[in-house]
Amino acid sequence: MSDNLNFFDDIQFLPRGRYLQLVVKITLLDDAIIRSNEPEEVLTFKYKKLGNRFIIPWRKIKGKLRRMVMEKQRDLKLPENSDCYLKDHLCMKCPACVLFGGTGETSKTKADYNLLSRVLGETFISTSEVNDISAYTANAVDEETLTTGQALMTIVKVPAETGFIGVVTLRDPTKELTAILVDNLERLTRLGASTREWGKVKTEIIGYLLSDREMLSSYDIVEKLPDDLNNIDTLELPPVEDSFRKVAEFAASIPVILDKNKKTQRKTKKESAKMAEEEGP
Ligand SMILES: [Zn+2]
Repeated sequence: MSDNLNFFDDIQFLPRGRYLQLVVKITLLDDAIIRSNEPEEVLTFKYKKLGNRFIIPWRKIKGKLRRMVMEKQRDLKLPENSDCYLKDHLCMKCPACVLFGGTGETSKTKADYNLLSRVLGETFISTSEVNDISAYTANAVDEETLTTGQALMTIVKVPAETGFIGVVTLRDPTKELTAILVDNLERLTRLGASTREWGKVKTEIIGYLLSDREMLSSYDIVEKLPDDLNNIDTLELPPVEDSFRKVAEFAASIPVILDKNKKTQRKTKKESAKMAEEEGP
C-alpha cells in the first residue's frame, strides 16, 4: 500500500485503479422483520469461522442508496432536466448513473455505452452471532381475495440493536464523488422498499482507507476493526450541492467524450489502413 496516494482532481471515464474504502456500521433501531420470497435472498448465513450471522445483501443497500442519490439530484435540479428512473429508465448521463452505473442497451436513451458502477459493495455481516433464528415459512395472503396459497415466503426477526459491518468502496475517488456518497450514506435511515419489512436504522461511517487495491472486506473486519482507519472528517469534503454540480457537468459530457473517442479511433484505423497500403505487403 502506498502512503502518498491522493484523491483524483478530475473524473475520467476509464478506471484508474484507486480505491476509497469506507467502513460502514448499520445499527437497527427497531426490531426488523426480514421477509423474503426469493430463495436466493439469504438472510442469515452460516460461516465456518464466524458462525451463524444475519446478513444484509449489498443489492438491498445499493438500491436504496441509488434511489436517495436520484431523489437528491431531482431536488437540486442537477442535472436541470433530471429524467432518470429505476429500473429500466436510466438516463446514463446523471450523477446517479456515474456513481452506480448502467447498461446502455436497457436504458431509456438506448445509449450505445455502458457505465461501470463506481460504488462497489459487499454483504453486510452482523457483529454478533445469531443464537436462535426464528425463521418460519408463511403463506402470502392475496390482497384481493384474502386467501392464502400464493407465494411462500420466509420471515426472520432481527432484534433491535443488531449491528452490521460492511465495506463500501468508491473506485477512483474525487472529493466530489466522495461527498455525494458520504452524504447519502449518512442519510440512510431506513432499509428495504417497505418499512414493514425493515425498521429504522442508524448508519455511521467508522473510517476510511485509500489504496491502489481493496484492502478491506466485511468478513475480515467484522470481529475486529482495523487500527489504521482514517477519520472521514479529516477529508474536509466539499459541500454536497457543489459536488452534484461538478459531477453533473462530467455526466453530461460523457456522450460527447465517447463520440469524440470513437471518431478518433475510426480516423486512426483509416490512417493505419492507408499506411499499410502505402507500405505494401
Ligand atoms: Zn441517470
